[in-house]
Amino acid sequence: MHPLAKLDHAHVWHPFTQMRDWLKREPIVITSGKGAVLRDVHGQEYLDANSSIWTNLHGHQHPKINAAIARQLKRISHSSALGFANEPASLLAARLVEAGNRIFDFRFSIFDSGGKTARKSQIVNCKLEKVFFSDDGSTAMEVALKLAYEFTRRTRGPRSKPRFLSLDGAYHGDTIGAVSAGHIDLFHQAYAGLLFKTDKVMSPYCYRCPFNRAKPERADARTYRKCQWECVGLVEKKFAKQKRKGNPYAAFAFEPLMQGSAGMIAQPSGWLREVTDIARSHGALLIADEVMTGFGRANSKFKIQNSKLALFACQEESVQPDFLCLAKGLTGGYLPMAATLTTQNIFDAFLGEYHEFKTFFHGHSFTGNQLGAAAALTSLELLETKASLRARAVLEKTLRAELQSLWPLPHVGDIRQVGLVAGIELVKNWRTREPFELRERAGIRVCEAMARRGVLTRPIGNVIVLMPPYCTTQVQLRQMVFALHDSVQDAFRAKENAKPAPNCAGFGV
Ligand code: PMP
Repeated sequence: MHPLAKLDHAHVWHPFTQMRDWLKREPIVITSGKGAVLRDVHGQEYLDANSSIWTNLHGHQHPKINAAIARQLKRISHSSALGFANEPASLLAARLVEAGNRIFDFRFSIFDSGGKTARKSQIVNCKLEKVFFSDDGSTAMEVALKLAYEFTRRTRGPRSKPRFLSLDGAYHGDTIGAVSAGHIDLFHQAYAGLLFKTDKVMSPYCYRCPFNRAKPERADARTYRKCQWECVGLVEKKFAKQKRKGNPYAAFAFEPLMQGSAGMIAQPSGWLREVTDIARSHGALLIADEVMTGFGRANSKFKIQNSKLALFACQEESVQPDFLCLAKGLTGGYLPMAATLTTQNIFDAFLGEYHEFKTFFHGHSFTGNQLGAAAALTSLELLETKASLRARAVLEKTLRAELQSLWPLPHVGDIRQVGLVAGIELVKNWRTREPFELRERAGIRVCEAMARRGVLTRPIGNVIVLMPPYCTTQVQLRQMVFALHDSVQDAFRAKENAKPAPNCAGFGV
């Protein structure tokens, strides 16, 4: 075993990993990366098919981001935001506010065509003005939850008990507030005693929706579903019920367009607009968790209005949240940095005389870090270039086309793509949609087989994720999908499972 792997085994505890499994085999020790390629200590190369856990946008070692960080290094790496401002963080805040306020005219109602009374879509004027920096997705959400909580107490009265609503299967991070807003029992149940109570409402998981009366087809379940949008009706009911209790929801937290850790649950077109309208009509604040979906990851229309481009999933359905939580791709995936964007209205509730102690008492040592902000500014610049826009559009189309090759596989039940994210749900039999038990490790086995073919990704239970960096070439993308195709075939053959697999994981949930 390589000496670095030995050190890892001796001392490193890996996240979301059964360490007993991890210690059975030599781990892949990454030493370098270029574009969409990762290289390990043995010189073996792999394609980074999940963008290093959904963080990397433009590829590894991007010369422009490298140069921006190097330039900043020559000036200063970090000074505190507690007491001081700094150049890249100020510039970045302004850029994020500008990008976060690109509202597109996409008003419509999913009920328009159904003959029912169309709900009047309302675009509430909640311009994002302020940026609170933090370190990662969990802290970005923590900031939003605390601000929403305190804002509600200050506006409804100090004795009010602000309550949050989020989606079934929600995952918003691993800090206590974020876990409280989460609804994945496997991750969250153990900590129930530490958490505050939140409510959940049905998420639009068309493939496994009890209201979907369609027979299984070899297509994305969102497109062939037969339903009456009962999931939206349930959201309306939930809000109405809470209002009747005399304590309307303070805020609704959601991942727009695609719920990542829930298993890449893709929302049917129009759902987001509709449920956020409902939330607003009941006076709830909107907390958009774009930790995964942000920075073009989940955009497919690449809409340009006034030569501006949609960079956030919310913008695809003209939803303007009160809190926009960003992390992962913020720095292009180079450095840990996060941001919570919010409105002047929220900000103003924290203003007062010093002795009133209305201050937002929250902050982290590395808030507004200069290296992260320098990387983020360059990443944003790259995102707006015509070349990046073109590359993303081509990649999205190629991914959509290549994924078609997976439908004939009997163990592929559903394929869900939103922008440059795809989730492929494995089942025992596509006709019955019978799921694999988690203990069967179906997703893990497929990913191990993919690693043997030089493609790295990580499953979410039985869902295989493909989320290529934006620089991925068509050839590399095809390699990823071929590897997945052949690995699905292999993984369910007994003799193949006996082969030693590279330890690229402790995979899965
Ligand atoms: N929100 C979402 C939607 C996420 O996908 C994640 C991480 N996978 C988080 C929050 C937490 O982010 P982090 O791991 O950076 O704390």
